[in-house]
Amino acid sequence: MITISLTMLASVTDGELLIPEQKAELIPDVFTINQLVTDSRAIEEHSDKDIAFLALKGPSFDGHRFAQQVIEQGCQLLIVDHQLEAVKNVVQLVVNDTRIALGQIAAFVKNEVSPKTVGITGSSGKTTVKEMVAAILSRLGNVLATNGNFNNDIGVPLTLLRLEHSHDFAVIEMGANHMGEIAYTTALTQPDVAVINNIAAAHLEGFGDLCGVARAKGEIFSGLGENGVALYNQDTKYTSKWQWRLTDKTVHTFSCVNKADCYSENVNLDKNGCATFTLHTQQGHCDVTLPVPGKHNVCNAVASAAIAIEFGASLEGIQLGLAQMKPVKGRLNLHHFENKQTGCSIKLIDDSYNANLESAKAAAQLLSNYPGKQLLILGDMGELGSEARSYHQEVGIFAKRLKLNSLLSLGVLSQAASDAFAKDNDNDEHSQHFNQRTELLTHLFTLLNKQLSVGQQDIAILVKGSRSAHMEHVVKEILEWF
Ligand code: ATP
Ligand code: MG
Repeated sequence: MITISLTMLASVTDGELLIPEQKAELIPDVFTINQLVTDSRAIEEHSDKDIAFLALKGPSFDGHRFAQQVIEQGCQLLIVDHQLEAVKNVVQLVVNDTRIALGQIAAFVKNEVSPKTVGITGSSGKTTVKEMVAAILSRLGNVLATNGNFNNDIGVPLTLLRLEHSHDFAVIEMGANHMGEIAYTTALTQPDVAVINNIAAAHLEGFGDLCGVARAKGEIFSGLGENGVALYNQDTKYTSKWQWRLTDKTVHTFSCVNKADCYSENVNLDKNGCATFTLHTQQGHCDVTLPVPGKHNVCNAVASAAIAIEFGASLEGIQLGLAQMKPVKGRLNLHHFENKQTGCSIKLIDDSYNANLESAKAAAQLLSNYPGKQLLILGDMGELGSEARSYHQEVGIFAKRLKLNSLLSLGVLSQAASDAFAKDNDNDEHSQHFNQRTELLTHLFTLLNKQLSVGQQDIAILVKGSRSAHMEHVVKEILEWF
């Protein structure tokens, strides 16, 4: 984080500075902080930073309760919503609402550093696009990108606070589970380029329906400045929900289906499911090879290329950047095993990080491309509202159409998927629903042992489910079994 004086912090947050008597000699213009934390665990032991602790409050926690602890850890300033009488000898900045103060400080930091900034939203692929864009732009300068999935109304300001004067680019992921969240984070971020990657059934509980999702994602364009560029996926439905925001903006489009300002053609998947394709842009075209599996990653790559072009990346830079992109944990990570006795290959595709209707279908589609037996292990997809059961059924029916060999489901909702898959399905082999992970794994390992003893066919297993389904435990145990 950049260095900020107490005077500036008080001015930015419209807060009241309380300087204890013991520190009467302290000059607020000179006293600075260069790290702001909201979690005591983020304070490093023996840190040489000048640290402020901002006390957030939530339904089940109150950061103010950690004041004494963070002072003992070396914190020099408390940002609080009321004066804490118990901690006498530390400077306090009292603000109305600490969450809002966090945003105000983050927006100030963003303005001071003023890197070229992209804000990325969409129902799926945000983290992947973020990683792809960061890989491309890091060839042009110093990039700050969202860590992990810090994409909500707390994560975005915390990300902006990590900016240093040395950063040339900021790549900011913006997610939402309620209306107004992206309007808020985009206002703090003020992106030069704002992107909607796609619209799908995700977090429906917060938005009602897909129109609601589209309206919520459209909020990202409200943060664009006068010279900002709006970028969106031309194949997305419901684009009408945000057109009114774009009347005075430069708008560019991308597509992995049709022609757009930036689009893909000639997509081919290799035996690991990784794509090669021709990328067309307004600057010309080039061939791209992706190091990550999944046809949907072609869409993510096209979006990333469209973003990078806005920041002056060359076609060669895009090609090289995408080729060097690192897979993101839990998103279609491919593990490959060879059974020496039988020569059978087993592929485990770990897509356990998250799931919604579209991403589950995309994963099933990818699985259907692998040679040999194809087995989908599906955990519950959460936050899908009153239609949740029918969305799970839809995945089961989709998997049946793809002629996958088996669908094992785990959880409560996902039973609808395995039932729909098994119904009138001549291809179905051993599909079943499980309430317990151990039961599913026992069933799976029996199947695999049988399959391996026959030793005639390769096997591909794909594991997917929402964050709340914790399918990463299933992946871990399969890896241990190997
Ligand atoms: P979150 O909302 O959890 O932050 P995200 O939008 O950041 O998710 P990623 O983490 O990049 O998305 O990908 C999550 C999963 O979504 C991947 O594992 C993949 O299965 C799927 N996915 C990624 N990109 C797309 C896409 N363009 N279309 C459909 N599914 C996708
Ligand atoms: Mg994400």
